[in-house]
Amino acid sequence: MSDALSVLHRLFGYSEFRGQQQAIIDTLIAGDPALVIMPTGGGKSLCYQIPSIVREGCGVVISPLIALMQDQVDALTQLGIRAGFLNSTQSSSENFSTEQQLQSGELDLLYIAPERLNQPRTRQLLQAAHIALFAIDEAHCVSQWGHDFRSDYLQLSRLGEDFPHVPRIALTATADERTQKEIAERLGLVDAKHFVAGFDRPNIHYQIHLKNQPKQQLLQFITTNHPQDSGIVYCLSRKKTESIAQWLCDQGYKALPYHAGLPHEKRAEHQQRFLREENIIIVATIAFGMGIDKPDVRFVAHLDLPKSIEAYYQETGRAGRDGEPANAWMVYGLEDVIKLREMMAQNTVDTANAAAVEYKRVEYQKLDAMMGLCEVTSCRRQALLNYFGEKRDTPCQNCDTCQQPVETWDGTEAAQKAMSCTYRTGQRFGVSHLVDVLTGAETDKIFQFDHHQLSVYGIGKALSKNQWRSVYRQLIARGLLTVDFQQYNALKLTEDCRLVLRGEQSIALRKDPLVKASVGAKNKKATHHGNRELWDALRACRTQLAKDKSVPPYVIFHDTVLVDMAEKQPQTLDEFAKLSGVGQAKLEQYGAFFLKVISEFQQSAQSGLSTTVNETYQQLQQQLSPEQIAKQRQLALTTIYSHIAQLIQNDHISLHSVFECDDKSLKAIEDQFVEQDEFMDAPKFKIVFDFFDEQYSYGVLKCVYANLIKKLNADAA
Ligand code: ADP
Ligand code: ZN
Repeated sequence: MSDALSVLHRLFGYSEFRGQQQAIIDTLIAGDPALVIMPTGGGKSLCYQIPSIVREGCGVVISPLIALMQDQVDALTQLGIRAGFLNSTQSSSENFSTEQQLQSGELDLLYIAPERLNQPRTRQLLQAAHIALFAIDEAHCVSQWGHDFRSDYLQLSRLGEDFPHVPRIALTATADERTQKEIAERLGLVDAKHFVAGFDRPNIHYQIHLKNQPKQQLLQFITTNHPQDSGIVYCLSRKKTESIAQWLCDQGYKALPYHAGLPHEKRAEHQQRFLREENIIIVATIAFGMGIDKPDVRFVAHLDLPKSIEAYYQETGRAGRDGEPANAWMVYGLEDVIKLREMMAQNTVDTANAAAVEYKRVEYQKLDAMMGLCEVTSCRRQALLNYFGEKRDTPCQNCDTCQQPVETWDGTEAAQKAMSCTYRTGQRFGVSHLVDVLTGAETDKIFQFDHHQLSVYGIGKALSKNQWRSVYRQLIARGLLTVDFQQYNALKLTEDCRLVLRGEQSIALRKDPLVKASVGAKNKKATHHGNRELWDALRACRTQLAKDKSVPPYVIFHDTVLVDMAEKQPQTLDEFAKLSGVGQAKLEQYGAFFLKVISEFQQSAQSGLSTTVNETYQQLQQQLSPEQIAKQRQLALTTIYSHIAQLIQNDHISLHSVFECDDKSLKAIEDQFVEQDEFMDAPKFKIVFDFFDEQYSYGVLKCVYANLIKKLNADAA
């Protein structure tokens, strides 16, 4: 067996390489350079981690994401790999000790921020050490065209000259052909082997719905598909992120806002909680994203339209890095297009500046392409990949248009009417008024402008107002009409509309489907194998271990591993070792904990807590309050309390975990029960409730009573 493969088995616990990993790793081990373009979740990290371990010396990883270095190092440490980092967040003594480790050959991997690498002191340090390879992560940061440009990255071109015998690998997920070329030139990798994987993210399910009641649509999407998952909701404005986050909290979810206007500490705290806790939903502007390396983000939702397909691809790409099914969900409407175009129009450019004018033009084109993706009637993935120049012959069957084919209708005549109405009213009015004219409404504005005298007045009564809005939206999306912001969003005809107006070209429009429940990604999580309880228990175990080690839960095990665990339910350490993603170090550290959870689950499955009580049990263990549980599951609070009472009576949880109270007060309540004649068989809660002047809720009283019975039973036994 090759060294690389044995490292893959022993340390990472995976059985085989994916895609081009093996070829890339072999290239580096042989001492040759490589340029790697691979989509998010493709498995880039192994490409430099394994050669760093196999080759002599330490692999140096240059990454701009200093906030993540600690987590990356923790994750490697958990695998039994010796790793460290050097960046500005460390104290000088931490710094010094890492440098020492490097010098004495105690590190397999070292993460360094680019600005650090360019300091003469670091250069000396590296010259003196034994370096296995240089990995330049997020290599697109060297491109001045991209939005993540880092001037420090330009200096990296010197690495090849300064360390001629050390192989270099540059990696990125986002690089069109032009950027690829630029990376290769700037990093001296023109002659290096290029490994370019496609853009496809097969585990992401794409769906775009018509916006109608966005908040309710979002809620329904989350409740149906992701009641207990981590996700990101993108909004356009800061204010909206806050109000949506608050609203989701009111619905019983753990949601946090994130935008550039929040104080620095708040932002850091929210990001940290997102990484560390389970089931957090971040509601964010586009300020949130770069460096979000969380593998188990299960959904990305857009409440507003992104400005380009690039942005959409990058934002949705944050879902499902672990390769498990994930959802990219969006609602969109005409008002989005109008709002975005308006924002773009407000940034006026100096018309004498050719570059600025060109930039603006490209910006509009990109928005048009994004709208095109929303309106597409064929496979969304095909359209998306096509935009990036990748041809795919067959529809994907994992997007909304594949699963629920869009119906179209011959909209030629409607389009002609909509356009002539625009023309006859002087190209000075917005959509609402035009729809009023077509449907023959009797508004002040119509009489004021004498529009009831026009030939187009009332010619569109056969369609509803909504249908007309849909027609206009699609005509704008196709570039047959444009919106003029200098003139209160007035619609104007474009050159392209002539053929349709003259009847020389017909036009198929999509039928806007009625808003249905969103079908999400085919989720092969344990929940769908009837093992929801086990799944939750395994997650709770992971959360606890993560807390003990102060690392994010996914550093312990990815969701993929837990899914496998819930399915196979290993009984012994040997069986546990066979799970994909369980290497030697994790087997030794965590195997026993998870085996215990599995065996407890199997016992309790026999002991017979009902599913719904068990669910309450799991949620309590995830620190949800009874109120939150009731809200999330849309059950009455008293129902939840009766579950809790059962759990207390059966000794699954303690009374104190739900009701804090000193011994004396507790005794006082208990006395009120004990004094009743038939308190064992038929307790009268109302008497106790009234006695304490409603100080304790019925729910709490049920719990106290359950606890009392448990104690009495135990005494009797
Ligand atoms: P990228 O950096 O390209 O976004 P990662 O390196 O984070 O991707 O890998 C994505 C996920 O795939 C991780 O959970 C990783 O552990 C897993 N993975 C990578 N290579 C393999 C493999 N050969 N077999 C199984 N899982 C793998
Ligand atoms: Zn498809």
